[in-house]
Amino acid sequence: MEERERWIDQLTGIYNLEGFYKATEELFAKNPDKKYIIAYWDVQRFKVINELFGRKAGDAILKDMANKIRTAYEGVEGTYGRMESDNFVACFPAELLEGSRDFVHSGEIIYQYEGTEYRFAACYGLYVVTDRSIDIASMVDRSRIAMDTVKANYVKPFAYYDESMREHIVREQMLMSDCDAAIREKQFEVYYQPVCNASDGTIISAEALVRWRHPEKGLIAPDVFIPLFERNGYINILDKYIWDRVCAMLKRRRDQGLDVVPISTNVSQMDFYNKNLCEDIIGIVEKYGLDPHLLRLEVTESAYADDPKRVREIVEKLQDYGFIILMDDFGSGYSSFNTLKELPVDILKIDMKFMDDLGKGGKSAIILESIVRMTKWMSLRAVAEGVETEAELNFLKSIECNYIQGYYFYRPMPEKEFEDLLNNPDLVDIKSAATAGSDESDFSILYSESLKSEGVFQNMLGGLSIYERVDDRMEVVRVNKGYYEMMKINSIGMTAEERLIGKYMEEKDYQELLEKCMEAEKTSDTVHAQIRRRRYDGEEIWLDARIRFLGNKGKRKMYYFYLMDITAIKQAEEEVYRNRYSKALFRVFDKVYRLDYDSGYAEVLHSVDVGMKEGDKIYYRDFFDKFQGSIVSKRRGEYSEAMKDKAVMDRILSESRSGGLSVDYRINDPEKMGFEWVSATFFKVETDHGEEHYLVCIKRI
Ligand code: C2E
Ligand code: CA
Ligand code: CA
Repeated sequence: MEERERWIDQLTGIYNLEGFYKATEELFAKNPDKKYIIAYWDVQRFKVINELFGRKAGDAILKDMANKIRTAYEGVEGTYGRMESDNFVACFPAELLEGSRDFVHSGEIIYQYEGTEYRFAACYGLYVVTDRSIDIASMVDRSRIAMDTVKANYVKPFAYYDESMREHIVREQMLMSDCDAAIREKQFEVYYQPVCNASDGTIISAEALVRWRHPEKGLIAPDVFIPLFERNGYINILDKYIWDRVCAMLKRRRDQGLDVVPISTNVSQMDFYNKNLCEDIIGIVEKYGLDPHLLRLEVTESAYADDPKRVREIVEKLQDYGFIILMDDFGSGYSSFNTLKELPVDILKIDMKFMDDLGKGGKSAIILESIVRMTKWMSLRAVAEGVETEAELNFLKSIECNYIQGYYFYRPMPEKEFEDLLNNPDLVDIKSAATAGSDESDFSILYSESLKSEGVFQNMLGGLSIYERVDDRMEVVRVNKGYYEMMKINSIGMTAEERLIGKYMEEKDYQELLEKCMEAEKTSDTVHAQIRRRRYDGEEIWLDARIRFLGNKGKRKMYYFYLMDITAIKQAEEEVYRNRYSKALFRVFDKVYRLDYDSGYAEVLHSVDVGMKEGDKIYYRDFFDKFQGSIVSKRRGEYSEAMKDKAVMDRILSESRSGGLSVDYRINDPEKMGFEWVSATFFKVETDHGEEHYLVCIKRI
């Protein structure tokens, strides 16, 4: 009895490590021929929960997780337990994974910590026990190795173990054990890559990029060790070291009376979990007595996606102090455009992938152009990264993207070489480098008297319109040529109907727009909005709008809208988003559809059937009616309802433990002259634009 107690984890009441080993040994002994799987879970970034919300909150999540596993394993001949801290482990018969989908999903746990924007997902690794001769601890190790490969991967939260993973781990492990010495012995070097004027290639700033000069392995690129350092926490130390080295270089040159340009440095997303991040950065520039303008900070979009509120607060604080903030890899993630709306940044670094795609047709050119145009309107600067060829450069020049970083001009180089460039006045554009280098567009014209002059109004690039609002009624009173072009109508004049923007928008979107107008009035500031509307030809488009309140005459309030068509960007984002979530699903399911409740048609996102291709539409409302008789659930009538009524589906999904609805049913297979069982899983995903997609995923069982 006493011994048993030793095997129980105090916090959660399930087995601890020792207990799990013991129980699993017994399980194996009893079932010598059965095939088992060992699963290993890790709550991603659990440390953060403890740090930010306290241990109690962390404990509550662990208990909850244990309960989830306990429930999922009810009636299963298997074992489970908690290893150290936030790691859970389980052993169960392999056949279970081949059977019910629910069982797999039990491993996919996502927490939204109460009242916050923090999301914590558990990822897990699976090891199919093929070799019973190794001990349980080594089996657990293998599932942990598999888990490690998907850490921080939101799309695919699990992986199966294979031998190559171990080799990779061994390699990483070797590097890991060298970290301490590397930091201590300062084996890191800063390389500099200039950022140039597109027009003449003169240098206006540079990016600091770390290299590891390993005593045995030679020069190691950051892609190899940064992810490792981000996991083991060394990144904080390393980044601070790099910032310090950059400032030391700037200070030395300053003292020698030599020219300097601003240097941007990378801030890892993990740095944002360092509570003293601001103090650390500010401390370094103060130590060297430097103007904060000289040390620029590159923040990736993924850092922001991780924890919007926190990153926003920190970034604002740093900006207030005088730092210039760059958004790195802009466009690489699906939230790019929305992020920009919310995150205060000064410079955008356009992701390299656009360069790769540029020559291949596709949408890259038009997206690049929209991005650059948009940055001008937002008084942001844009730097294109990864520019390698003259053709790329020429294209960028043609769309007035003025700043370039890429092999075409310079590769990253050691400090000494970079300083040689700086010492050559012909190569450096000191004037631009010294000012913040902004090519700000002047918005004041819009707010001024000159608006009254027809000429200025008509010649503005882009869509400009003036709206009059009386309560809930918004009417266009004046537009410019750009507006007509954008809306694809000729300028003969609009009908009374066409003047009412509300007629061309979804009610929800329209209400939001009205709120934005009121906000503009209240703050007498420019308010930024994204508008989804139909063009007069019925096509749905997305517009980026800057709204400003002009004044009122009694109940009639006037606003002007500065509009840009961002449909291409939105579509591209949507595509990327869809690819992300779908890739994981496509591996698992035979067919994936998206239900469109408005039309009653399901769009094929993926299908293994040759006769069915992506984008095909099939009528689905009578789906469950057709299979009524063969559905293995008492609730089949309700499911039929759910196909017709979104509210019913929402209720079923919200009541379900997994957040999904799984239904098994039987279909006739004429080829096999018999029945076949199929499982359909319904769930809802929210796109980045706040749209809800209902997906149904189908698999033969
Ligand atoms: P990044 O911040 O996007 O940096 C740009 C990367 O693109 C650099 O790779 C640079 O060498 C490479 N590059 C520049 N021009 C071209 C081009 O024309 N063509 C191609 N194909 N590549 C080009 P690098 O130096 O290997 O760095 C990789 C990543 O490692 C960086 O991507 C950054 O995310 C990270 N990193 C580098 N140094 C640091 C650091 O000190 N701290 C942190 N946290 N991350 C760093
Ligand atoms: Ca960077
Ligand atoms: Ca970048």
